[in-house]
Amino acid sequence: MACSICGESGHNSKTCPKKVRQNNDYALWTKIEGISEPEAREISHRIEDVKSEIAPHGRGTTVKAPIKNLNKEIKKALAIEDQSDEEKQTK
Ligand SMILES: [Zn+2]
Repeated sequence: MACSICGESGHNSKTCPKKVRQNNDYALWTKIEGISEPEAREISHRIEDVKSEIAPHGRGTTVKAPIKNLNKEIKKALAIEDQSDEEKQTK
């Protein structure tokens, strides 16, 4: 069976010598203010679409809230992420 990355036979996608090794140790954080709720919703959806297209393996969350609640909502989202990381570690 041919390798799904380079099309050559004799190895598979896991052992392909042409596979580019990437360090997935980066994260991205963005804050945009001075926008309306519908704009926030649309930007958030598009960020999720672009994320799926460029880095389907990437995990993350977006937080949209009135500016006065943003810090509180970010803390909530980060607490949920921490919990899910701990759950994975215990499995
Ligand atoms: Zn290959």
